[in-house]
Amino acid sequence: MRYQAAPCPARFFRRHLSTGRAAAKPPFALSRERGSCENPRPRAKPKDPEVTATILDGKAVAQQIRDELGARVARVKERLGRPPALAILLVGDDPASEVYVRNKLKTAEESGLGVKLERLPSATTLSAVLGVVGRFNKDASFDGILVQSPLPKALGADAEQRVFDTIDPGKDVDGFSPISAGLVLQNREGFAPCTPAGVIELLVRSKIPLEGKHAVVIGRSDIVGKPMAALLLHKNATVTICHSRTRDLPAMARSADILVAAIGRPAFVTPEFVKPGAVVIDVGINSVTRADEAKRIFAGHPERLAVFEKRGSVLVGDVHPDVARTAGALTPVPGGVGPLTIAMLMANTVRAAERTIR
Ligand code: NAP
Repeated sequence: MRYQAAPCPARFFRRHLSTGRAAAKPPFALSRERGSCENPRPRAKPKDPEVTATILDGKAVAQQIRDELGARVARVKERLGRPPALAILLVGDDPASEVYVRNKLKTAEESGLGVKLERLPSATTLSAVLGVVGRFNKDASFDGILVQSPLPKALGADAEQRVFDTIDPGKDVDGFSPISAGLVLQNREGFAPCTPAGVIELLVRSKIPLEGKHAVVIGRSDIVGKPMAALLLHKNATVTICHSRTRDLPAMARSADILVAAIGRPAFVTPEFVKPGAVVIDVGINSVTRADEAKRIFAGHPERLAVFEKRGSVLVGDVHPDVARTAGALTPVPGGVGPLTIAMLMANTVRAAERTIR
């Protein structure tokens, strides 16, 4: 079985709003059909009349994916006498990792999965980390293993790679091991990294055509950019990968029907990077804590500035919020790719358990 997105119960539709300028012609037709699917989720009209983009609701799609897992979780429970189970190792006390792990634990529990968190202090050694991974590998009561990234710098530059090399590929539900990477590249059964796998789910379930489209991925990391490009290629998109040495990045990005930004730079992709009507997937999650930066990025978005003023920080993706006035469809931050990443972690864990009872 190849890596395949599940069948689509959701229909997203394109809103064509009066923008006061020439209407952007979409690179493809999105379904306008409403209310004929199992889980219709009409979305609220945007408050900003300049917005051209359909906001792709990652949170809703993530919930659908998790709902669909229910019956499979029950079947595993029947066969194994326990639910699919995930072991998480958290090393150190990085505040962002604490939040990510908390969300994964909560989602696993809500999805009926078994989950165990083991912690090591930041002053630990790489051999202690590898020891825990080795123990998880052997423990038949866990189907999936996740070692929260990043590991403390003191463990060494190659620590993460050593850990990913050690995880049993059959339990590699994060999809970071070299075996998983190879299987994804060859379009064979394996575990695709959760973030790009979630992006594909979102695109497919949103009925966004990929075949023959030009997809541009900005970013070439092993966990997002490269597998994203491979998965889009397997959907018959024509794929270009861009990175920090790409010449004339805005022009390259502007040639995309589907633009994926996985860069790690707040609001880097501005409207000049985007062909009118293009689908823009914002993978980035950046916390803006400086008032001047928040004011610059959210100048035309008072509701987001209000969040900053209330909390002293605000999340922004790698895509500038003004892109909503050029793109045909866009994932929000927060509420876009992030929830899908966690849903795919759950899906991979269920699949890992199912593989043990085939
Ligand atoms: P990463 O390993 O730091 O890779 C960033 C990539 O962006 C690199 O390939 C880099 O190019 C490229 N890049 C950096 N500056 C650039 C520039 N000025 N022009 C063009 N390309 C540039 O980051 P990552 O792990 O892939 O993550 C990317 C973003 O996604 C981050 O914001 C991260 O927080 C977010 N993320 C979100 C989720 C989620 O669940 N939503 C999951 C994972 C990651 P070089 O290779 O040339 O250096």
